[in-house]
Amino acid sequence: MNITLRRLLIRELEEELEAAKKIDAERLAEEIQRTGFNCLMCGKCCRREFGDNRVALMPEEISRIHDGSSLTLEDIAEPFNIEAESPEEEYLLQKETDMVDEEGNIHTFGWMLQRKKNRDCIFIPDERTDNRCSIYELRPHLCSTYPFYMEGLKLRISECEGLGKVIGLQESRELAGKVLNRYVCELQDTILTYKNYNGFITGGKGQLIAELNLKQGYLNYIVHNSEGTCKITKRI
Ligand code: SF4
Repeated sequence: MNITLRRLLIRELEEELEAAKKIDAERLAEEIQRTGFNCLMCGKCCRREFGDNRVALMPEEISRIHDGSSLTLEDIAEPFNIEAESPEEEYLLQKETDMVDEEGNIHTFGWMLQRKKNRDCIFIPDERTDNRCSIYELRPHLCSTYPFYMEGLKLRISECEGLGKVIGLQESRELAGKVLNRYVCELQDTILTYKNYNGFITGGKGQLIAELNLKQGYLNYIVHNSEGTCKITKRI
């Protein structure tokens, strides 16, 4: 990403942030109430029943989970990545986007919640009869606002078994407040991430090194985020 594109993106995001702060929470609550929602605890959003179940995480959410549990960064998060069926497919897609540097590190923007080998959320039990989240009280914004989120100043709705169920106005207001707070926080976090980003050099033997690492069962990532950059090794 060159500097002109980065500046343009930051300016657009700052404009969106200003507009997001002016969104009428009461109207949003009414929209949520009209849509209707009640979580049935089916666990489908935590598993891969609707396909993509990646949960983007901001550093403050990782810290909150870390502080409230005995979990390490690696227990909680992994580099935000392209959705794929396997680490090998994930790497091939990364390679196509030219995100491998000359030392074989794969560059990503931000973090996501750690997933199991089968790509279900790491915090949902293996038994499909038990859908209790093991970090429920500390769960990320995305989980506590699911299936609602904001994009381009509009309310968006993900697939969910609980849609259309009756929800009271007070509960809709609380949910609308959380959805808006998440939107503003994510915009601020993305702006900071782009401001911190300094680029990287591609080419050389980078792809060869990454492919060798993959054969040996790991990949090195550099995660660009709102707190700077973090190098992390992911075991495959
Ligand atoms: S939010 Fe929706 S999909 Fe997720 S557990 Fe509740 S009802 Fe199921």
